[in-house]
Amino acid sequence: MSRLVLVLGDQLSHGLSALREGDKSRDTVVMAEVVEEATYVRHHPKKIALIIAAMRQFAAALEEDGWTVAYTQLDDTDNAGSIVGELLRRAEQTGADSVICTEPGEWRLINKLTHAPIKTRILSDDRFLASHAEFESWAEGRKSLRMEYFYREMRRKTGLLMEGDDPAGGQWNFDHDNRKPAPGDIDPKAPLMFEPDDITGDVLALVEARFGDHFGDLRPFWFATTRAQALEAMDHFIAHSLPTFGDYQDAMLTGQPFMFHAILSPYLNMGLLEPLEVCQAAEAAYEKGDAPINAVEGFIRQIIGWREYVRGIYFLEGPEYAARNALKQKRDLPSMYWGGETHMACMKAAVDQTREHAYAHHIQRLMVTGNFALLAGVDPGQVSDWYLEVYADAYEWVEAPNVVGMSQFADGGVIASKPYVSSGAYINRMSDYCKGCAYKVSQKTGEGACPFNTLYWHFLDRHRERLSGNPRMGNMYATWDRMDAQKRETVLADASAVLDKLDAGEVV
Ligand SMILES: Cc1cc2nc3c(=O)[nH]c(=O)nc-3n(C[C@H](O)[C@H](O)[C@H](O)COP(=O)(O)OP(=O)(O)OC[C@H]3O[C@@H](n4cnc5c(N)ncnc54)[C@H](O)[C@@H]3O)c2cc1C
Ligand code: SF4
Repeated sequence: MSRLVLVLGDQLSHGLSALREGDKSRDTVVMAEVVEEATYVRHHPKKIALIIAAMRQFAAALEEDGWTVAYTQLDDTDNAGSIVGELLRRAEQTGADSVICTEPGEWRLINKLTHAPIKTRILSDDRFLASHAEFESWAEGRKSLRMEYFYREMRRKTGLLMEGDDPAGGQWNFDHDNRKPAPGDIDPKAPLMFEPDDITGDVLALVEARFGDHFGDLRPFWFATTRAQALEAMDHFIAHSLPTFGDYQDAMLTGQPFMFHAILSPYLNMGLLEPLEVCQAAEAAYEKGDAPINAVEGFIRQIIGWREYVRGIYFLEGPEYAARNALKQKRDLPSMYWGGETHMACMKAAVDQTREHAYAHHIQRLMVTGNFALLAGVDPGQVSDWYLEVYADAYEWVEAPNVVGMSQFADGGVIASKPYVSSGAYINRMSDYCKGCAYKVSQKTGEGACPFNTLYWHFLDRHRERLSGNPRMGNMYATWDRMDAQKRETVLADASAVLDKLDAGEVV
């Protein structure tokens, strides 16, 4: 009997376990653009276009490679509208009696496939360095699951930046050399941008017609949509931005949406690039003396450390993880996240570039939009949906732990040992946003005070019961408690005024 080999939009890898298991001579690959996947949250139009265009390119490459591909376009009249619906339709057409697929990166879809009314074999996704079993055994019996120790295991396992049993350069982690504020006159090289070809042109017209009302600019569209282009984008990053990646990893500058970041996460997460090959390319630059150890170690840590670690947590913690709300925050996401007017220059910069490029770098996501949502008491489910919708690299296995865990502390401390909160001082130190802001970052209270400054203390005060026992937060509470009582009252009143404005839909 023939089988169906399901390939999802983020599984565009020729070495995918389902393709390895399938038999070109008798099985049919099923790929489908379905409305259910494009709209279960209202994804950014650039993200939808990227996935569909890359799927069409990948299907053509599979056919060239000798596969029979049953490909369904979004506008096909007999499109069943869902992945399972398409599998059933194709099974009937081809006479196939079972499905082989690689595990999706989302519990929602795993659940649908597990309960599909056709025999479905789900294979593990071995495009990651650590299997579920490996992560579980690392996590077992540990009091806290800090990334750093997991990362060292991955260094040993891959041999990346290892000199025998020792880390290259004599240290595992060079972060103390990183995280410098950027001087205003630096000139980062933009990521490699690609002209849309005919396939992408058709997709852009389709997305414009069907999803033009979603938040985000579809054009200009510049993402790579094939593996060959993604490899070019990788080489471009290694040559031009990797050497300075570490130094300015956390820096933010007005008008510089990409800084020295790789902009490779969309390609890695769709399967166009493999994590190991990207890390090996970075390591080779270090070995040739083209990039310093602090940059290369920092970059490799993001991929074999953080990326693998958050995936491990997502699957370890189970399907309910994304819905956690340990701090019981309930506020609606303010309209400024959807481009509504704001006087806050940092928020405006992060949201504007998100709308334009479906991209913001880590510190913008964590310390600007994430920090503000956490301080303002926004419901983490709404925050998580926003991140899932607006970023081209967002898939639940990586988005949820970063948002619910790292950024919103809604998992109660599984990922972060304390909430990532800061006043405006951090943003001022790491960016030039405050210079052009209507608020004054040095002002702690009163009209014109930076909202981060008052909300920071409001956050600590309202979560005192839960957080004051955290040894890493002792200094913060000690500072708050030393403050004059009258001043504390003013700070809290000013913060409440900001929150009232947000609730009333007024501009903050
Ligand atoms: C609130 C929040 C939400 C996030 N949501 C996502 C998401 O939906 N998808 C996503 O891929 N990343 C997410 N991240 C992690 C990180 O911000 C992005 O991976 C990074 O900005 C991608 O851009 P880049 O390729 O230029 O990364 P670089 O800064 O150049 O880093 C290189 C690579 O390291 C990996 N990486 C770095 N940090 C992380 C991390 N924390 N988790 C996983 N991988 C990491 C990425 O693959 C990235 O391509 C999120 C971070 C935060 C704080
Ligand atoms: S003053 Fe405050 S709101 Fe304005 S840019 Fe700086 S940190 Fe952001």
